[in-house]
Amino acid sequence: MAVALAPAAGNTLLAAAQPAAPAAAAPAGPYQLAPLPYAADALEPFIDAKTMEIHHGRHHATYVTSLNKAVSDQPDLAKKSPKELIANLASLPEGIRTAVRNHGGGHVNHSLFWSILKRNGGSTPSGPLMELLVKKYGTFDGFKAEFTKASMSVFGSGWAWLSIDKQGETGIETTPNQDSPYMAGRVPLLGLDLWEHAYYLKYQNKRMDYVTAFFQIINWDAVAARLAKPE
Ligand code: MN
Repeated sequence: MAVALAPAAGNTLLAAAQPAAPAAAAPAGPYQLAPLPYAADALEPFIDAKTMEIHHGRHHATYVTSLNKAVSDQPDLAKKSPKELIANLASLPEGIRTAVRNHGGGHVNHSLFWSILKRNGGSTPSGPLMELLVKKYGTFDGFKAEFTKASMSVFGSGWAWLSIDKQGETGIETTPNQDSPYMAGRVPLLGLDLWEHAYYLKYQNKRMDYVTAFFQIINWDAVAARLAKPE
C-alpha cells in the first residue's frame, strides 16, 4: 500500500509544503546572476569553456547567493544596487559589512569582468582611450607591461585594474580578495581576475600565460565606453 501511494502522496505533500517553508530555499533575490553575454566557449582558446562555466555558473553564482543572504533581513539595503553597497561599506551594519565586502565585491567585479571580455584578435584600443594610455604609459605596449607587472605582483587572490578617480585621473591598481576600486571611490574601467579559479584548469600556476592571453580577449569598445561615462 505504501508503494502504491508514495508518488502521489509525495507530490501533494511537496506542493503543499513549499509556501510554508520558504527558509528551505536559497534566497531568490534581490540580486540576480545575469547570463554570460556570450557562449561559454566564445573566448577559446584563451579562456576555455569549462573554466567559464564553473567561474560564472558556480563562483559568480555563489557571490550572488551569499550577497542575497547577507541582506536578507535588511530590506532598505536590498533596494540599493550592489555598486552602491560596496561603495559605502562604512555605512553598513557591522554584522554584514564583511559579507557585503566579499560577496558584493565578488558580484560587482565579476559582472564587470564578463562585460569587458571579447575575442579581439590582438587588436588595441583607439580614440580617447588609446590617447590616454599612450600619454600615460608612452605606448600601448608600455601600458601592457605595467598592467602585466601589476598583475604578477598580486600575492594570492585578487584583481588588477585600470581605474579612474573623481578628478578624472586614471591609473593601474591592484586589490586583494574581492575588493574593488569602487570601495576607494574610484571607477574600474578594466579588470583582470587573478584568482586561481579564473585560470587554473588551463594554465595551472602559469599566471603570466593567462595575463598574456587576457590581452587577446579585452573588449576595448566596452572599456572605452566606461571611460566615456565612468559609473
Ligand atoms: Mn573570479
